[in-house]
Amino acid sequence: MDITWTATQRQRLRELDADEAAVDLSFPDRAAREKCFKKIEGELAAKNRAVLRALKEESRRPLLCRLEDQLIGRLTEEGFVQVVTPIILSRGMLRKMTITDEHPLNRQVFWVDRNRCLRPMLAPHLYHLLRDLRRLWGKPVRIFEIGPCFRKESEGAYHLNEFTMLNLVELGDLEGRQEERLKELAVTVMEAADIADYRLEKDQCHVYGNTIDLIAGDLELGSGAYGPHELDPPWGIVDPWVGIGFGLERLVVTIGAYSNIRRAGRSISYLDGARLNI
Ligand code: ATP
Ligand code: MG
Repeated sequence: MDITWTATQRQRLRELDADEAAVDLSFPDRAAREKCFKKIEGELAAKNRAVLRALKEESRRPLLCRLEDQLIGRLTEEGFVQVVTPIILSRGMLRKMTITDEHPLNRQVFWVDRNRCLRPMLAPHLYHLLRDLRRLWGKPVRIFEIGPCFRKESEGAYHLNEFTMLNLVELGDLEGRQEERLKELAVTVMEAADIADYRLEKDQCHVYGNTIDLIAGDLELGSGAYGPHELDPPWGIVDPWVGIGFGLERLVVTIGAYSNIRRAGRSISYLDGARLNI
């Protein structure tokens, strides 16, 4: 009867980002298995070393950082202004997003103290800014932020506890054109990220209700919503708007064809997608 990898070998192959075909191999006996493991592990370690060498010799910045630059370049060209808001968010602002104690997202929130948390999303502070900027700049207001967000997630290949969100919002004369504009913005971001293979799908979410999601394969890369929306009045927003949020590590996973998002995120085990214990 054929034998498969030991649990330790399988875990090691996954760490090194072996493809599923390699993880699923079977062997007539232990000697054949050990020989094959040595060969595959060696090849994968060499691949990881090559990534680290390229980082040191050429790009000097991980894909996540380079992607952020590309996005900033493209969005500012399109007239969007970058904003930088606090990572610490008040309970009041979360409530204003209707995320109260009973809300599903509330269970995912990291609390700093009774009244402050690490932001699980960028939207509350962007909502807050929109009102002032609408008054100061007039329409349209086009802003975006890129920064860390935090959510308690039960482990999974595509969820991190800390990830980088890009959220862009446009407020202005968009009556009847919201879906169209949202799609244009989704295309702009995908072009800037050099991702060609994706689709847009209508969906539902707990915060915004109807959303338009951007999907690559089975993975949600981004989620868009638009207003006038029932969330708007407490924030003093009366104009139509469109907004879309992306997880940058999910974009990196897609661009780099990684099997696990941990390769793309903040890490002391991986650097630019390469495993360090090789
Ligand atoms: P999912 O259903 O995959 O958990 P979500 O509906 O909770 O996603 P949103 O709240 O719509 O996600 O957040 C917008 C984007 O932020 C997502 O499309 C995704 O790219 C990214 N994102 C959300 N949660 C995480 C996470 N834990 N790790 C990495 N990226 C995330
Ligand atoms: Mg989620």
